[in-house]
Amino acid sequence: MTLTYQIGEEDGLYKALLAAGVQGRTEPAAGQSNDADDSASAASRAAWDEDADLPICTACGTQYPAAREDCPICEDDRQFVPANGQAWSCLRKLADSAHKNELVKDSQDNRISYIKTTPAFGIGQTPFLIETAEGSYIWDCCAFLSHNLVSELKGLKNPLKAIVISHPHFYTTSLTWARVLSVPLVVCGKDEEWYQRLSDVKEGEIVWYDEDHELTSNLKALRCGGHFEGSAVLYWDRSREPSPDHASSAKCRQDGIIFCADTAMVQPTQKGFTFQYSVPNMIPLNPYDVAYLYKKLKDVPFGQATSTWPGRFIREDAGSILAQSVRKHLETMGCDWLWVSLSNETQNESAGSTSWNSADILSSRASDGRSKQSLIILNQPITRRDIFEKLWDNCDYRICADGGANRLYDLLSEGDRER
Ligand SMILES: [Zn+2]
Ligand SMILES: [Zn+2]
Repeated sequence: MTLTYQIGEEDGLYKALLAAGVQGRTEPAAGQSNDADDSASAASRAAWDEDADLPICTACGTQYPAAREDCPICEDDRQFVPANGQAWSCLRKLADSAHKNELVKDSQDNRISYIKTTPAFGIGQTPFLIETAEGSYIWDCCAFLSHNLVSELKGLKNPLKAIVISHPHFYTTSLTWARVLSVPLVVCGKDEEWYQRLSDVKEGEIVWYDEDHELTSNLKALRCGGHFEGSAVLYWDRSREPSPDHASSAKCRQDGIIFCADTAMVQPTQKGFTFQYSVPNMIPLNPYDVAYLYKKLKDVPFGQATSTWPGRFIREDAGSILAQSVRKHLETMGCDWLWVSLSNETQNESAGSTSWNSADILSSRASDGRSKQSLIILNQPITRRDIFEKLWDNCDYRICADGGANRLYDLLSEGDRER
């Protein structure tokens, strides 16, 4: 997710948030002494100090274990190096330049708070604090962390249990957060190669999971893939939580909510989702990965959805809006047939019959846990090599029938034939 666009609109988005009645709690800049500041434990301060001079990319907010020339997150084709070149900061410089954190409560559910950084930094990452009855969790991360925020997070009524991260664009300074707050990170292991401080990670500091991860009985990280192979959303089933203390409020929500970062990004319209491989470089997500994501979420009951930036919140009917948005994306990409196939699968499943899993079989990021698939090559021209290669890679058994072996032979280059 970007970047200059996010930074440019940040103040406007925040004003809109305040205009909508959202309450904020402001704190002094880090580095300035006050009572809350003093209450941060010596251990937390020591952990913060230890990482305070590590380089942080100013464009994306990723922290590195040592000085370097390039930022692999920005060099990746999902991001970009700004026109004025690669630049670096660090936690200490951010604190010295009067950056501060602020917890901003959601207007409908005071168990959800935005963790805002002012002035905005990196790609404007605005993680969430989610205070469930079984403990509090931070969803996603941002580069700056003030001592005052640490004090607030350490004093929560329901203690902080973990920091859970959707994908590499939010890894930022998460190892520092985990050490300062004395909680583990929860990260999908499919993106482990993107974790830039891997060489520093000690045993137990990161809980790596593969497919999905249950945090509490009502809170789960669900890997959907697509944007990154390990891209996840966080699902909170509020209907199974005890009634919150604001339950009598007319605005109080007790339905399911997904926190979806840019795995399925809430549009600026807040009336739909968009599915992007790269947001700043405007590369849409391939239709098979969108279909896979939809299959993962279509039976999850949720009425609300939000991405990890202010002003990206679908307040009503988010589940059916997801279906409409997936359909629109697939039709726009000329894959109407895939939507029809997904709809038929849903009908077949509800009728109790076996369904053919087109999303799994065509996704480049198919689940490891899917059922076994077979490919039968008949005596027909193979006109779409791209689709053929996906089928070949995703099938466990490949059989040539009739003149299929000749069609396969014709398709292959000389080097391929030898293999
Ligand atoms: Zn992203
Ligand atoms: Zn970067």
